[in-house]
Amino acid sequence: MSASRRSTNKRSSQKTGQPRTRRFLRSAWVVVLVLSLASIVLALLQSNDWLTTWTRGVKTTLSGGSSSTPTPTARPSLTPRRILATPQPRGRRVGIVAGHSGPEGDPGAVCDSGLREVDVNRAVALAVVSALRSEGYDVDLLDEFDARLHGYHADALVAIHSDSCIPTGLSGFKVARAADSAIPEAEDRLVQCLYQTYESATGLAPQLSTITEDMENYHAFREIEWQTPGAIIELGFLLADGHVLANETDRMAYGITSGVRCFLEN
Ligand SMILES: [Zn+2]
Repeated sequence: MSASRRSTNKRSSQKTGQPRTRRFLRSAWVVVLVLSLASIVLALLQSNDWLTTWTRGVKTTLSGGSSSTPTPTARPSLTPRRILATPQPRGRRVGIVAGHSGPEGDPGAVCDSGLREVDVNRAVALAVVSALRSEGYDVDLLDEFDARLHGYHADALVAIHSDSCIPTGLSGFKVARAADSAIPEAEDRLVQCLYQTYESATGLAPQLSTITEDMENYHAFREIEWQTPGAIIELGFLLADGHVLANETDRMAYGITSGVRCFLEN
């Protein structure tokens, strides 16, 4: 039994010798194949280009788009809105003369109460300058005899004065331009704008009958460049309109600021 078993074993070992070699060769081949594939995948993973391409491919596949033409992102354009939102006066220059202000120390008209024209004019002028600047205008605050008035070039010039404090019974404000204006159309428009806006802002009535030669021949009209539209406003009478002139600086300033805007923006 044992001899025959040995011979059987011998036979079977002879029979299985070749398949074992084949199995070994097959396993070795599989290992080589797997190693080769692994090295290729590693090489590909190290390549950013491939990763990017792959990612884009996945994205476009998911979104159903074409991989060659990436879909541009629609971004809201802020610039046009910003331009529309800002007011137009960029680059416009305005000169505001604070009547009687300056190193001369001239108070202008003076009331018994101590109310001085120069103080009223200056307070209103400062408020107008501040308001116009906040709206984007380039504004010069000028003294009565400011050296900058000679050949002054701007889109508008407004001189601010107030009327006497003597008991005339007169009340109201008035606006004038140069009698011998070189640009009467433009200056009339500036004057009309100021009449409208100052009246509605202060409630004071126009006092046309007391426009003097001094107003129409105001010295600054002869000094500024002829192309600069100029006007002079008398805010009201220091006595009769004292309640406005002494207390309503903001209203008066608003009236003048609106008048300048009316002239420049229409
Ligand atoms: Zn004056």
